[in-house]
Amino acid sequence: MTTLLYERLQDAFREFGWTRIPEVVDHHAEEAAKHNISYLEFLDKLLQEELLSKRERFIRMKTRVAHLPFHKKLDQFDFSFQPSIDERRIRELAALRFLAHRENLIFLGPPGVGKTHLAVAIALEAIKQRYTVYFTTAHELVETLQQAHQNNTIRQKIKVFTKPNLLIIDEIGYRKMEDAAAHFFFQIVSERYETGSIILTSNKSYGAWGEIFGDAVLATAILDRLLHHSTTINIKGESYRIKEKKKAGFFRPEGSEDKPE
Ligand code: ADP
Ligand code: MG
Repeated sequence: MTTLLYERLQDAFREFGWTRIPEVVDHHAEEAAKHNISYLEFLDKLLQEELLSKRERFIRMKTRVAHLPFHKKLDQFDFSFQPSIDERRIRELAALRFLAHRENLIFLGPPGVGKTHLAVAIALEAIKQRYTVYFTTAHELVETLQQAHQNNTIRQKIKVFTKPNLLIIDEIGYRKMEDAAAHFFFQIVSERYETGSIILTSNKSYGAWGEIFGDAVLATAILDRLLHHSTTINIKGESYRIKEKKKAGFFRPEGSEDKPE
């Protein structure tokens, strides 16, 4: 390639915002010459590489803004360790029909049984399918809204929790909510009702939710909206964290972990 042509190509790639083609164009040009590859095939190869890298960048960016606590996939979940979970059902949920229908998904169970892992795995699948996702804990959600309320930025902040196609609210029930906090929580659930999915995790059964929100009527109103179109996965079993500690020889009796992390 002449220097002039080379520089003009590099300028064009830059102006188009193409980042992958400049890295592979030399290689593909050589291959094309060597193997008699047609012009169209050559062009197709370059564009496919660029598209793939663009999609990967998009997924990385969406994963970053989703604010996930860790990135674990369904393949990394050991279903044999948690027999109360129906693997087929989880795989069906990971096909995301519930998300297309704006339904909710609730994981209930004691600490360490994989509620957050499964929620994150489904979130990663959703991001791959180009849904927008935001992950928060119940505590962080109400703290953020209470602070925004004080700073008069509540409308903008509410959008953080209502705009994504999927909102994950982790760890409901670890802390009881004050009156105002419970009302903010209710507001998010109502605004998302039938407009966007929620995945929620809790260590408390529904019967104990009155206590979490400090108000049985409010808890009923929240549950009413959450459960109207929803799937509940009840996980009963041993903590995976304790299994790992047992393996490492630091066993502590179950229940001693039964507190917020
Ligand atoms: P929970 O949210 O129910 O308290 P987590 O999902 O945070 O539990 O799980 C605790 C840790 O154990 C995480 O690192 C998670 O990836 C891992 N874990 C839990 N259950 C399993 C499982 N069945 N297979 C593989 N890893 C698991
Ligand atoms: Mg968790």
